[in-house]
Amino acid sequence: MVSTIELNKRQEQILQIVKENGPITGEQIAEQLNLTRATLRPDLAILTMAGYLDARPRVGYFYTGKSEAQLLTENLQKIYVKDYQSVPVVVPENLSVYDAIVKMFLEDVGTLFVVDESSILAGVLSRKDLLRASIGKQELTTLPVNIIMTRMPNITMCQKDDLLIDVAMKLIEKQIDAMPVVKETEKGFEVIGRITKTNITEAFVSLVKNE
Ligand code: ADP
Repeated sequence: MVSTIELNKRQEQILQIVKENGPITGEQIAEQLNLTRATLRPDLAILTMAGYLDARPRVGYFYTGKSEAQLLTENLQKIYVKDYQSVPVVVPENLSVYDAIVKMFLEDVGTLFVVDESSILAGVLSRKDLLRASIGKQELTTLPVNIIMTRMPNITMCQKDDLLIDVAMKLIEKQIDAMPVVKETEKGFEVIGRITKTNITEAFVSLVKNE
């Protein structure tokens, strides 16, 4: 069975006790396990946060009975772009394709964002954009990136308060590896972050980690 989070042995025991005896207080669960209430506190917090258990003041813990699929969906609705975004790497429009390639290597990213003189998003450069330009007979040290970039308004972007699952779906739909996280200003869209397939993978892994 796919589990929303990996439960340890004690958490499984607690879940079983609450399933059979709930509603039950933390004190009573501790008694059944011969442990102190304080020892159980982190496990109870994890089980409650993951949605397996619910707690009511003066009543105690009870089993929510939610399916794994329900828990996964609910937990995905709590992950936002701002929780996983990376630092964006931006370059000016007049940078040469040659220097953009060097920048991509030095910064160890797969996508560069091109900004104008007011730091407003103007375009996107992917690995293939730079490779394509390099195949031709053009002089890379004098060819500016704004000739080859994908430009506004054709850029797929997101905002820090967007749900990460929605951004993941956009990446798949548009068949791209990354998108800029932007903030709208009077001048245009300011680049404040970067979301890549790696960030999505990190979030995916965090869903099953018992932290
Ligand atoms: P790769 O070049 O490694 O295939 P992508 O799949 O991200 O990387 O890029 C494919 C094409 O889509 C490139 O031409 C690139 O400029 C463009 N692109 C990449 N990211 C975006 C984005 N967020 N919005 C619009 N176009 C993008």
